[in-house]
Amino acid sequence: MTDSAPLSLDVRSPPELNRGGADAHADASKRVLKQQAALFEMMRAGVMGHTEQEVLSVLTETTARTLNVARVSIWRFNADFSQLELQDLYESATNRHSSGGALEAVRYPSYFEALKHSRVVSATDARRDPRTVEFLDHYLIPLDIHSLLDAGVWVAGSRHGVVCVESVGGRRGWTPDEQQFCGSIADLVVIARENETRRSAQTELTASVERFTRVFRLSPDLMVVTRASDGVVVDVNEGFERQTGYLRADTIGRTMVEMGLWAIQGQRESWVREVCEHGRVRGLEVELRMRDGEIRTYQISAERCVIEGEECIISISRDFTAAKRHERIVFEIAQGVAAATGESFFRSLVERLQLALDADIAFVGELDRSSATGIRTIAVHTRAGVGLPFRYDLDGSPCETILSSGVCAYPCDVAQLFPRDTALAEKQIQGYVGAPLMSADGVALGLISVMFKQPIEHSEMAVQLMRIFATRASAELERRDQLAELEFRANHDLLTRLPNRPALEGRIDATLAAARPDGRAALLLLDLDRFKEVNDTLGHRVGDKLIEAIARRIRADAPSGLLKGCEFARTGGDEFAAWIPYLDSTESLVSIAAELRHMVTSPVEVGGYRLEVGASVGIALFPAHANTASELLRCAEIAMYQAKRHGSAITIYDRASDPYSTRRLALMSELSAAVRDQQLEVFYQPRTVLATGMTAGFEALVRWRHPQHGLIMPSQFVPLAELSDVIRALTLNVLDQALRQLQAWQQRGHSMSMSVNLSARNLMDPECGDQIEALLTKHAVRPDSLELEITESAIIADPDRATATLSRLHDLGVRIAIDDFGTGYSSLSHLRRLPLDALKIDVSFVTNMLKSEQDAAIVASTIGLAHSLGLTVVAEGIEDASTQTRLSELGCEEGQGFHISAPMPSIAATDWLEASRR
Ligand code: C2E
Ligand code: CA
Ligand code: CA
Repeated sequence: MTDSAPLSLDVRSPPELNRGGADAHADASKRVLKQQAALFEMMRAGVMGHTEQEVLSVLTETTARTLNVARVSIWRFNADFSQLELQDLYESATNRHSSGGALEAVRYPSYFEALKHSRVVSATDARRDPRTVEFLDHYLIPLDIHSLLDAGVWVAGSRHGVVCVESVGGRRGWTPDEQQFCGSIADLVVIARENETRRSAQTELTASVERFTRVFRLSPDLMVVTRASDGVVVDVNEGFERQTGYLRADTIGRTMVEMGLWAIQGQRESWVREVCEHGRVRGLEVELRMRDGEIRTYQISAERCVIEGEECIISISRDFTAAKRHERIVFEIAQGVAAATGESFFRSLVERLQLALDADIAFVGELDRSSATGIRTIAVHTRAGVGLPFRYDLDGSPCETILSSGVCAYPCDVAQLFPRDTALAEKQIQGYVGAPLMSADGVALGLISVMFKQPIEHSEMAVQLMRIFATRASAELERRDQLAELEFRANHDLLTRLPNRPALEGRIDATLAAARPDGRAALLLLDLDRFKEVNDTLGHRVGDKLIEAIARRIRADAPSGLLKGCEFARTGGDEFAAWIPYLDSTESLVSIAAELRHMVTSPVEVGGYRLEVGASVGIALFPAHANTASELLRCAEIAMYQAKRHGSAITIYDRASDPYSTRRLALMSELSAAVRDQQLEVFYQPRTVLATGMTAGFEALVRWRHPQHGLIMPSQFVPLAELSDVIRALTLNVLDQALRQLQAWQQRGHSMSMSVNLSARNLMDPECGDQIEALLTKHAVRPDSLELEITESAIIADPDRATATLSRLHDLGVRIAIDDFGTGYSSLSHLRRLPLDALKIDVSFVTNMLKSEQDAAIVASTIGLAHSLGLTVVAEGIEDASTQTRLSELGCEEGQGFHISAPMPSIAATDWLEASRR
């Protein structure tokens, strides 16, 4: 027969007939149909009439096409089973066949052992499967193989060889029908083998009959041969007997109609019509009634042929009931959960799995991210409905195995297999199927499981369902985590993981909305003193560590300590907030504030440094001060700045000192008029050359002599004036008075300068330069005896415009000093490109420098830095002689402060000047 027509099989998809409507169902149906068509074609084309090698190469190639895999090979055992020899390998990518080479049993003992006992070795994860893992380095990895499906070739109860199906490039789960198909191919290998040995001896006719009989007998599918003329059954195979329950002897000579095999008459009619019209039927889905009355779904293909001179119909049917049910369940579950996301997805998934598989418990669990030692359920469903959440340890549980080895099924005795997982025995669990949930990059996130109090009969379907829905559940879990992370980021400070300012406001408003009429609450704002210096001198890393350490402390105390019930937030770089939603007494409030401050200011070991930072706390009360979150925050902030300014640790908001309070706002309306009416009065504070004690000059500090309220300090109205254009008139007025005074003093022979404060808004004003120049001319004062003081924040508001104005003034010859240095945010190096002449170290550093080493270090380093930039250094806030001496020793040129003199009205300043000259 070697001279017969060359072998080639056409395994295109057969025509589609009468398939179920659901798409999910259609896939399985298509697959089985393709397999049947392949088997049919192989038999019909007389595959068996060729040499064994020819047949094997058809089998490998057809299998590869039918299952759509990269590699299919057929191997044969040698006489003593010590090796497998490659008979034929087909590779889809190259469309080539090869043979030769062998696998040694000594090298792959587990695999050889598995072949001893199994008809089919189905390894979805071949790289981990104990039976195939020994191929990993030399075979699986180099060839990029992930999944294996091997069917043993058995001849007369003895091992003969193996058919290997290999999937490359990714894992693949083998469906039951694919496993069965592979088994059929193994049967064909047997026939080819037997045919080969018999070929020489037998006549072609008997061989052909023999061949057909064998295929017929061995096929696991249901096969029937009927006479075309009257539909009488001529023969049935073992598969038929096994599946329908009718014996061959009882069936031959009767018609299927007589036997009542056709459950639906219309289906028989279309079957007959198809066969008559086209001579064949492919993949018709029909319902057949078994002997015991059960109706099962089959997919039937048939073909007319002549057997022993008689026109017959051979039909081959495959039980499709389970596959169909499976596909329907998948379809239903998929539909049921399609629209759901997040928690509701998990809830409906476990509910549907529990129902579909008739399980006792179904759950989705998430791995404890912090410890990774346990599982916490996200959704549980039991026969009784939604189940209570639970948590359990991974150690010694089936989940542990699932997370490390992939999908697992324990059809029975799972409690005995995992004795350490006592919950299994408690819940009387016998069967268990679970699949791991993995992130896209392969990290275990959790698992999905179903548990049964009875042994599981067909765990295959559960495994398939788990596999299918594990993918979707993994994606959902990952998405949920990402959403949670995004939400966390939006509401938290990532360094300390404390809530951020918007989150705090949300919390406050929520509490206030739900507050009882007599409810009281308090907001504490705590700001570290001079945290910026830590950052600048020790680096941001140390700064961050310090903040983290402080946050840890607060957090550690929060659950039990004095701060119990407080909600914390990080509201800014070095600012924390504590919200006390239920306040019982003001005393407790003060002790809470003191405790919070104590906690923050006690020394912290960070990066080898022992750091000690100061802190000021501002407190605002509900309902006394405000009744919205933003108002409370504003009041607490004002109180906190007040605390800083006065060097008091804790300050409760006081409307009287709030520049934005209603009283202040009322005052503001009068300010423009006050400027015009000459109610502003300038006080003068001397600035001394520390080395000689000579007076270097004065700083002009404004006061408002109000007709009703008396003398008002600048802190009460300057900040508000700065919010409107009033500040322009105010500044010009102060400048006018100060320059007039300077000219008067200079005329009396005092050589000295005058310092005047400029606001941010002045710097933004394009006319500012011209106006100042005009005033200098008006009072005939040399520009270099005027010094303008500006704060860093004034520059930061709009650095380009500020720099333009400053350069214009500097070009005139006016001196520029940076005021309140150390309280802003920029470091000195940021100020380098500004045209500066002097730097004033802020009061807050100077007053404490003898008590605090940290402050002393800051003052010293600031002086050094300023000098390296060529700036004169002025220390503000000298309150005693020793501070003055120390500053002088540190090289600070000039000083200002109560120790020298407080700001004085013009007449007093003149007297002071005269006195100091003497
Ligand atoms: P500043 O420019 O930092 O002025 C120095 C402040 O420190 C003055 O407060 C002064 O009285 C105070 N001071 C002086 N020596 C000591 C001391 O030894 N210890 C302590 N603890 N403090 C001392 P004052 O006069 O109340 O002025 C407050 C702020 O108001 C000024 O701070 C400045 O920012 C603003 N200001 C005052 N006058 C004007 C002005 O004409 N225009 C503008 N734009 N702002 C002004
Ligand atoms: Ca100043
Ligand atoms: Ca200052």
